[in-house]
Amino acid sequence: MHVSLYELDQTLLKAVLQEWGQPAFRAKQLYKQLYSQLASDPQQMTDLPQKLRDELSSRAAIGNLTCVREQTADDGLTRKVLWSLPGGAVVESVLMIYPPDRATVCVSTQAGCAMGCVFCATGKLGLLRNIETGEIIEQVIFFERYLRQHAAELSHRLDVPIPDHITNLVFMGMGEPFANYDRWWRAVERLNDQQGFNLGARHMTVSTVGLVQGIRRLADEGLQINLAVSLHAPNNALRSALMPVNDRFDIDDLLDAVRYYIERTNRRVSFEYVLLEGKNDTPELAAQLGALLKGMLCHVNLIPWNPVPGTPLERSHRERVLAFQQGVQAAGVPCTVRVERGVEIAAACGQLAAIPSPTSPIELHAR
Ligand code: SF4
Repeated sequence: MHVSLYELDQTLLKAVLQEWGQPAFRAKQLYKQLYSQLASDPQQMTDLPQKLRDELSSRAAIGNLTCVREQTADDGLTRKVLWSLPGGAVVESVLMIYPPDRATVCVSTQAGCAMGCVFCATGKLGLLRNIETGEIIEQVIFFERYLRQHAAELSHRLDVPIPDHITNLVFMGMGEPFANYDRWWRAVERLNDQQGFNLGARHMTVSTVGLVQGIRRLADEGLQINLAVSLHAPNNALRSALMPVNDRFDIDDLLDAVRYYIERTNRRVSFEYVLLEGKNDTPELAAQLGALLKGMLCHVNLIPWNPVPGTPLERSHRERVLAFQQGVQAAGVPCTVRVERGVEIAAACGQLAAIPSPTSPIELHAR
C-alpha cells in the first residue's frame, strides 16, 4: 500500500525513511519539499538522491485527493475545487482572492455533516466521513501552488496586485471541524509549523456550530486561532428549531465556553448569523441578540442566506438585513454584513454540498 506523505508528520516521515535505509536528515529535506517547495511529484525533489526519488515514486503518494472539477467566478478571484476522496465521497474547497493583499482558502474538514442545520446544503447529506489530516492539508497546498504559478498572470489580466501565497485560512467548508478535532488539529499544527507551511495562527479561523468541548479545547491549545461561532438565533427555542445541536449545548453553555476562549486567548470572537426572511431577522430578535452579546469581545457577521434547493426558507430582503444590522449595533455590538463571493458557482457561504454532477451547481456549506 502507498504511504500518503501529507498524512505523516516529521517524526513519522523519519521513521518511514529510516525503514527504507535513509539517514534521518532526509526527512527534513522531504518535509521542506512538501511544505515549502510544494513538490507535486517526487522527481521534482532534486535535492534528494535519484534512488530515493524513485522509491518515493513507487512506494508513496504525495496526496490522496483527486481534483474532479474546478470552477471560477468573480473574474477569476473566486476559485472552487471539487475533490474526490478515496472511498468515493466528494468535498469542496474555495480560494477567495481580495486584492491587493489577501488570499483566503475555505477548507473542508468532513465530507457531509451530522449536525443537520435546517438551512444548510451540507447538513442535508448527513456525515459521509471525516477528512484525514493529510487531505485537509492538501486542499491548502493545492491553492498555494495555484497562487505561486498564476498570481502574476492574474494580476496582469485584472491590473491589480494579487498575493502569490495564501494569507488566510478559514475552516468553514463542509463539516464541523470540532467533530473531527484530532485530525483537524494535526493539520493546523503542520500548517502553522515554522518548518512546515508556516502560516501564523492569527491568520486561521475555525468556525463551529457550537460544540462547547471543542471551544474549550481550542482555548487551551495555546495557539491564537480565531474562533467563529454559528449562532443564527438569540434564544433557545428558535435556535433549536434551526440547529438541532442547540438541544445538546444551549446558548448559556455555548456562551460560557466562548467567554472561556476569550479569557484564555484575548481574541475577539465572531458570531455568524445567517438571515432567513421572517424566521430570525425581525427587529425584536436583533434587539435580543444585541442584549445577549453586549459587552463581550465579539462582533456579529450577518450572512445573507444562499438558497438551498428543497428548503422552504427565503433569503432576507436587503432592507431587513440593514435594519437587523442597525438593531444589533444599537446595543453597542459591532455588526457587519458579509460580502458575498462566488454565488454564481455556488461557492458562497451556506452552499457547499459537493454534488458531483457537471450540470448541477455545487452547493457550499452554510455558516
Ligand atoms: S451549517 Fe455547518 S454544522 Fe450546520 S449542518 Fe451545515 S456544515 Fe454542518
